[in-house]
Amino acid sequence: MTETKAEPKRKLPMRSVFAIVLALVAALAAPCGAEAYQSVDKYVSAGHGYLNASYLVIHETANPGASAYNHTLLWSRDDTYAVHHVMELDGSTVYNTVAENCLCWHVGNGNGYTIGIELAHATNAADFSKQWSEAVKWAGDELRAHGWDTSRLLSHYEAAQRWGGSDHTDPTGYFRQYGKTWADFKRAVANYLGSGYVAPIAPTDGNGGTVASTPTSTNDSSFGGTYRCTVSSLNVRSAPSLYGTVVASYGYGQTVNLDNWYCISNGYVWGRYTSYSGYTRYVAVGRPTGGYDPNDYLVRGGTGVSQARPASTGRSAGRYRIVVDALNVRSGAGIGYGVVASYYRGQTVNLDGTFVTSGGYVWGRYTSYSGHTRWIAVGTASGAVYAQRG
Ligand SMILES: [Zn+2]
Repeated sequence: MTETKAEPKRKLPMRSVFAIVLALVAALAAPCGAEAYQSVDKYVSAGHGYLNASYLVIHETANPGASAYNHTLLWSRDDTYAVHHVMELDGSTVYNTVAENCLCWHVGNGNGYTIGIELAHATNAADFSKQWSEAVKWAGDELRAHGWDTSRLLSHYEAAQRWGGSDHTDPTGYFRQYGKTWADFKRAVANYLGSGYVAPIAPTDGNGGTVASTPTSTNDSSFGGTYRCTVSSLNVRSAPSLYGTVVASYGYGQTVNLDNWYCISNGYVWGRYTSYSGYTRYVAVGRPTGGYDPNDYLVRGGTGVSQARPASTGRSAGRYRIVVDALNVRSGAGIGYGVVASYYRGQTVNLDGTFVTSGGYVWGRYTSYSGHTRWIAVGTASGAVYAQRG
């Protein structure tokens, strides 16, 4: 089975082809398992109770030069703030210090939803560079092991914005010290996962933005309406700018009624609403792409909403008929997952009602005769149809 009859009959851009070739070369050149970091069990604590996590949080220790190994010693003496994993200064080792089903106190109110890793704070560029590439691989492996995509990957700062109870901003400052951003990290993890899909990051700081002069606003009667949030944390601000004070935040699936008004500032389209308390509030809807974009933070009426949100696509369980010449069957909801079979035009498949939007496609799920979970792209988030109900 060749990749040419993939999802849509869509040509891969040359850049993607190049990236895939590079990834294949890297995979062949790499030793078995393709990972360089060593995963070492060195449990120091049973945590603070039971945990069933659904997100992964990246920290840095804020303890420049202190090794991960020294953190395992520290936590074995006092496990109050032990975190599940800690990565060595040069990325060579990840110590697994608290089992992932045990609660750690690492992100305030989000503790009950999250697994954490601390990156030991490297003090030179050579170590940082090695740690960066190993951290990307580790995070990718960790997400994949849980069946998660980059929408489940948060910085401590994002987790604090989302759930509160913490004022930490790591690892943003640490990354910035070596010329990297949180967005760079997330993109690198997506590339490592092979999906090319980077879950949108809510604009959270002035990184990359410039202070705008007073932005020009536009009254547009087609702009307003109910929008749904597609990111884990979206800041609500007092002004339509990354420099507006953050006064609240929205999470996945929450809705907001925007006015018939928008403006463009700091590279984002900002919408406006009035809070219950009577204040004018602003949120970033997405990049000014001129139309709906799968990476938007807010989407109207729930179209193409987020990832791993069952039934968010308005589709239902039942028999679906393939309406394209050939359609790949994959082991996961994304083009990064392996092709395990194919369907052809006119064939039917019974989907179980779970639909996930990922990488611009809407994926439907079924269980194969062999008992495995399988996924097909039933269409694109922007409306193309590959498999039709009935
Ligand atoms: Zn932290």
